[in-house]
Amino acid sequence: MALAELCEKLEETSKRNLMVSVVTAFLERLSPDEVEPAVSMILGRPFPRWSPRVLDVGWTTLTKIIRRLTKTNWKVFSQAFSETGDVGSAVKAVFEASKPYRQATLLEKPLTIMEVRRSFESIAEASGAGSREKRERLVEALLSAAEPLEAKYLVKILIGEMRTGFHEGLMELAVAKAFHVPLEDVQRACMMLGDVGEVAALLKTGGKEALSKVGFRVFRPVRLMMAQTAENVEEALREHGGETAFEYKFDGARIQIHKDGAAVRIFSRRLTDVTQSLPEIVELVQREVKAEKAILEGEVIAVDADGKPMAFQHLMRRFKRVRGIEETRRRIPVRLFLFDVLYLNGQSLIHEPYVERRRILSETSGEIPLANQLVTGDAQAAEQFLKMALDEGHEGLMAKRLDGDYTPGIRGKKWLKIKPVLEPLDLVIVAAEYGYGRRHNWLSDYYLAARDAETGRFLVVGKTFKGLTDEEIIEMTRRLKELAVKEEHRRVIVTPKIVVEVLYNEIQKSPKYECGMALRFARISRIREDKTPEEADTIQKVREIYEKQFLKKGR
Ligand code: AMP
Repeated sequence: MALAELCEKLEETSKRNLMVSVVTAFLERLSPDEVEPAVSMILGRPFPRWSPRVLDVGWTTLTKIIRRLTKTNWKVFSQAFSETGDVGSAVKAVFEASKPYRQATLLEKPLTIMEVRRSFESIAEASGAGSREKRERLVEALLSAAEPLEAKYLVKILIGEMRTGFHEGLMELAVAKAFHVPLEDVQRACMMLGDVGEVAALLKTGGKEALSKVGFRVFRPVRLMMAQTAENVEEALREHGGETAFEYKFDGARIQIHKDGAAVRIFSRRLTDVTQSLPEIVELVQREVKAEKAILEGEVIAVDADGKPMAFQHLMRRFKRVRGIEETRRRIPVRLFLFDVLYLNGQSLIHEPYVERRRILSETSGEIPLANQLVTGDAQAAEQFLKMALDEGHEGLMAKRLDGDYTPGIRGKKWLKIKPVLEPLDLVIVAAEYGYGRRHNWLSDYYLAARDAETGRFLVVGKTFKGLTDEEIIEMTRRLKELAVKEEHRRVIVTPKIVVEVLYNEIQKSPKYECGMALRFARISRIREDKTPEEADTIQKVREIYEKQFLKKGR
C-alpha cells in the first residue's frame, strides 16, 4: 500500500526534486529483501530489467478478470478512462465503485511488496498445459486482495504503463541519496549490473564497499552506446578529426551477446532477454567465438533466399514469436554482423579505443562476419562506400571515431549515423485520436492519407503522434474539431483539409490499411499551409517509392 501511495505522489507532481526526495525517504525505510522489488515496481517493472521473466497478461484478459471481480457496470470504467486517459485510474474507479460488494471478500491485511513480487513470479512461471488459466487465476487472486489504489498500480505494472514521470535517471539519484554515495558511483554500477534495483539492494546490504567491487558480469546486459546523426560523410569526417572508420549500417536489430563457456544469452536493444527467439545465433556463437567469457555486440538482419536483406518488419516477427520458433526460423533466416566487444575473459574493454576493440573482435569472432568497414580520410572513398552499402540494401553508414571508447548508455558523437532519408510526402489528415496521459484532451494522434489519383479518395498510409509541438497540437485540435464529421469513441473523423509534410524511414507492406502499405516511423516535419488536399501526394507516388525499395532489398 505504501508503494502505491508513493506512486500516487509521484504521479501528482512534476517537480523532480520532490520526486527524488520522496523516493529517497521511501528507500531508506525498506528491508533489504524489499529494495530491488520496490525499485523495479516504482519504475513500472515486475522484475529487474535484465530478467528473462515476463508476465504475459494482456489487457483483454485483465478486463475479463476485473469485470468478474468487481461485478461493476463497465460504464464506470469508460467514463473514468475518457476523463483521465489512464487505464490505471479507470481501474481504480471500478474498484471503488465495487467496494460495497467486495467488502465481504476483502482481506484486512494489506498487500506487501514481497507478496506482490512472489505473485508476479508465480504468474511468470505458469507454463505448460493450462498455463493461461493458471495465470488468470493468479492474477485474479492478486487483484482480489488489492485496495483500489493498489489495483491501479498493479494494473499499470501488469500492462507496462506506469507513466509517473519518475524515470531511471531520477531513480539513480534517489538511490545515491538514500545510501549516501556519489551519483557517478551508482551510475557506474548500474552500467555494469544493468539494473538500478540491484545496485540499490547491493548498497543496502554491502554498502559503499560492495559498490566499489562491482564489475561486468556475464549475463547482465550493459547499456548500449548510441549514435548521433551526421548529415553526410563530410560532416562525419570533420567531426572525427579528418579520419574515421565507416561501417555499414544494417537495418536490423541490435543484439548484445553474452557468453560464458557453452552458455549463451542474447539481449535486445531494450536489454530484454531474447535468447529463445534466436536459436541459430546461440549455436553460431557457441561454435565460433573463441573466448571463454565474452560480451559482444552486433546487428541481426533478416535475409531472403538469396541472402538479400529484408525489410525490418520480417525480423520483428522473429522477436515476437514465443511458440513455433523452429518454423519461423526456417521461414525467416537471419544473419549476424558483429561490430563490438565490451568484455573478454574477465577484462573490461570499454576503455580501449575503437580500433583496438575491433582488432580484438576480429581475433575472437571466428567465422562470424564483422560489419563491413572502411577506415579513411577521403570523402570520395567514403561516398563510394556509402553507395555500396545502399546498393546492397542496407540503411547507410556508421562513422566510428578511431580513438573512441565505448560509452554505455550515452548517445554521443563518437558514433555517428549517416542514413539518407526517403523523400518526404505531403499527406492529408483524415482522422485523429485523443492522446494519453498529459495529452488526453488533445487530438494528438493523426491518420495520414494520400490521394488516389484515379478515384479521388483519400487512403490512409500511416499514423503518427510525432513531430508537432504542444502549441501546434492545441491549435491542430481546435482546427480538427471544426472539421469533424463523426466521432467514434476516442477517434474523430474529419474532412480532409489539412496537409502536412511527413518524414519516414521505410514503406512497409501492411494489411492494416486498405492500400496495403504503411509508413514506418512517420513523423510530421511541418504543416503545409500552402498546399490544398488536391495538391497532396498521391497513393500512386507512395506505391512508386514502395516498389523502388525492392530494387535493392529482398521482398
Ligand atoms: P539508430 O537506431 O537510428 O539510433 O541507429 C543506431 C543503431 O544502428 C544501433 O543501435 C544498431 O542497432 C544499428 N546498427 C546497424 N549497423 C551498425 C553498426 N555497424 N554499428 C553500430 N550500430 C549499428
